[in-house]
Amino acid sequence: MRQLIAGNWKMNGRLADVAGYAQAVRAATLHTRLLICPPFTLIDRFATALAGSGITVGGQDCHANPHGAHTGDISASALAEAGASYVIVGHSERRLDHGETNAIVAGKAVAATAAGLTPIVCVGETEEQRDAGEAENVVRQQLAHSLPAGFAGVVAYEPVWAIGTGRTPTEDDVAAMHAAIRAALVEKLGETGKGLLILYGGSVKPSNAASLLALPEVGGALVGGASLKAEDLLAIAGAA
Ligand code: PGA
Repeated sequence: MRQLIAGNWKMNGRLADVAGYAQAVRAATLHTRLLICPPFTLIDRFATALAGSGITVGGQDCHANPHGAHTGDISASALAEAGASYVIVGHSERRLDHGETNAIVAGKAVAATAAGLTPIVCVGETEEQRDAGEAENVVRQQLAHSLPAGFAGVVAYEPVWAIGTGRTPTEDDVAAMHAAIRAALVEKLGETGKGLLILYGGSVKPSNAASLLALPEVGGALVGGASLKAEDLLAIAGAA
């Protein structure tokens, strides 16, 4: 399966950015799949600007319920209607800033799948947990409880301390964690678990992408800061 390079714009980007960005990524020759996850308000515009290109658009979060009294939230089906085909759930910024538990994340993954979206479930340890030797245990627990039964989406391993910091784990640590995640996926999901993509995220940039993307069981990257410029995201995709 081709690697997936996913850009997570977080709370960045404006309407005025969409056309130029879409034009740049459309013009590139890609050997990976490319996914852009902009703020909700830009999904529709991006989907239109990228129509027919094979480059996909995703949301950064969704609610577990299909509709209802949830001020400020967005349903998975509304994302799908706007043109999204993926949605990130359980990003550490959601888990930390919004108190999202594993059970909440699992509910969102179910809702995403029901709406026809592919969920990208994020897991990853904090620096304290890594220093305490607990990283693998923490991630295994997150996988055990954030992935619903029958999960068929994407997993993103994002060590919290590597997000936006310019620091990354060693190649050995990434490889070891991805191997542990693969084992957990197979244990939980059987045959399906063998084929699911496991992305690495956390300070991926053009200069470190080639070595990270070459590691065993790394099926692509979830890219924050370096996804804001099309040329950087394309350089990362080109390194795959
Ligand atoms: P970063 O963010 O690439 O800016 O470290 C990654 C993410 O949070 O998905």
